Amino acid sequence: MSYRTDKDKLFQTLKKLTDVPSPSGFEDKIREVVIEELKPYADKIWVDSMGNVIALKKGSGEGKLMLAAHMDEIALMVKAIDKNGFIRFVPIGGWSPRILPGQRVVIVTLDGKTIRGVIGSKPPHIMKPEEQNKVIPIHELFIDIGVTSREEAEKLGVTIGSVIVMDRETVRIGNGDIVTGRALDDKIGVAVMIESFKELENPAVDVYAVATVQEEVGLKGARTAAYSISPDLAIALDVTVASDIPGVPEEDYVTRVGKGPAIKIMDGRAGTGQIVPKPIRDLLIRTAKEDNIPYQLEVLPGGTTDAAAIQLTKSGIPAGTVSIPTRYLHSPVELLSLEDSFNAVRLINGFIKRLNKDWVNNVLRREVK
Ligand code: ZN
Repeated sequence: MSYRTDKDKLFQTLKKLTDVPSPSGFEDKIREVVIEELKPYADKIWVDSMGNVIALKKGSGEGKLMLAAHMDEIALMVKAIDKNGFIRFVPIGGWSPRILPGQRVVIVTLDGKTIRGVIGSKPPHIMKPEEQNKVIPIHELFIDIGVTSREEAEKLGVTIGSVIVMDRETVRIGNGDIVTGRALDDKIGVAVMIESFKELENPAVDVYAVATVQEEVGLKGARTAAYSISPDLAIALDVTVASDIPGVPEEDYVTRVGKGPAIKIMDGRAGTGQIVPKPIRDLLIRTAKEDNIPYQLEVLPGGTTDAAAIQLTKSGIPAGTVSIPTRYLHSPVELLSLEDSFNAVRLINGFIKRLNKDWVNNVLRREVK
């Protein structure tokens, strides 16, 4: 089949999504980008009371599918400004303190203004030998925004509760297939969902594309959206670990960049995230095989996706995840392949084409007597 989207369009969409900061709970700007992208293709589109964007493409009534991709990103939040104008902060989501010193940042004030700064650190010249290899904990780090007093910082609009993201542009490198930038987790999932939604033509099932809020801080938006939509099944689109890098033994790669989107089998510590139900797992694998889409099977020993919250909503909603293999997760230089992402669009659309009333009522669940 032919596609309206391609790698370049996918990159353009990703770029629009990464150009705006969207810390968990502060998704205002990205919400408008998502609405603008989905609106022309949706039969209905709305923002729910949690802030999720929900776009509906009506099908011929054979079931309801929810797609979920989170539009929030991990970030930092101002907790205090000292008398010299230096800013102390707390994390929003799972940062490693190792990668924060030396980063340039953008602070978003409570009224939406943006201000630049840097996460400072002691120069090696004055470090004691024992400090050289020490990881500085987040509560000891500070941001310098180029002012000399708290009053000056406040005059710029920085207050307690202002949010902070890394200052990093999304760019294509290598042969142009590889993309690197901040918050590809999970703006690539949102981009794949948007491009998949644009491809929909007379689906048998109603498709609800949900750009969720606050995934990084407890899968919050997906949980309530799933409750109100009450779908027959759901697929989360998110990134996963690709640790195909020096120093990591092959058995710990989880996935590899460039080897195709990953079909989740299990995640979370010892299976506490999701164990994808057989009907969904099987149909995703069959789709990949029949449509000649490269794919990888994914067992992730830590972390999970929106699907983990969706599956436990109401009386249970079978849910799976299609993942984009991504290196350096939760750092400002996350890295992935556009080819993998485009193949994720193909996988999602092939999967949707295979959904019908018979599969929903006799394979996904069934009446026995
Ligand atoms: Zn994510």
